[in-house]
Amino acid sequence: MTGIEELLLSRIRDVADYPAPGVLFKDITPLLADPAAFTALTDALAGIAQSSGATKVVGLEARGFILGAPVAVRAGLGFIPVRKAGKLPGATLGQAYDLEYGSAEIEVHAEDLSADDRVLVVDDVLATGGTAEASLQLIRRAGAEVAGLAVLMELGFLGGRARLEPTLAGAPLEAL
Ligand code: AMP
Repeated sequence: MTGIEELLLSRIRDVADYPAPGVLFKDITPLLADPAAFTALTDALAGIAQSSGATKVVGLEARGFILGAPVAVRAGLGFIPVRKAGKLPGATLGQAYDLEYGSAEIEVHAEDLSADDRVLVVDDVLATGGTAEASLQLIRRAGAEVAGLAVLMELGFLGGRARLEPTLAGAPLEAL
């Protein structure tokens, strides 16, 4: 494990049975509170953004906002929030996706993405990949290109990477 991987991992708190029994929640608030760790994470993600040739960074509500916004600033790119349905005031494009029980929908402002954009999606945790998959579909439907997906952590046993393979269509998935 590299120094940065050790630093980041040491600042992630495992919380058992949150928010539901059987879930091991990965709490990133200790990392956010540590300026050295938060800066190292931001720099690493900004490096990925720059080498991916992205023109914009999309952050997924809510922790993808906290990570994605400083990454966009550091990389000199625009930041676009992808929000849960009903939160954006302008004309939106929406994408529904299935949850374990029921379904959810995410939205983006239609005017924020165009055919000229290459988009890097940023989030904290890749679990089943459902949220990321919907965001990639949304980006493509907005006419933009997918530059990749970058996450702090991937919960490998949930199979998100395999699920995303067809949707990523060759674009990189980076998990720090
Ligand atoms: P999924 O759509 O299953 O990949 O879930 C990803 C979203 O849910 C991300 O936005 C994460 O912030 C959150 N998430 C899922 N599982 C966990 C977990 N074990 N710990 C922390 N966040 C999680």
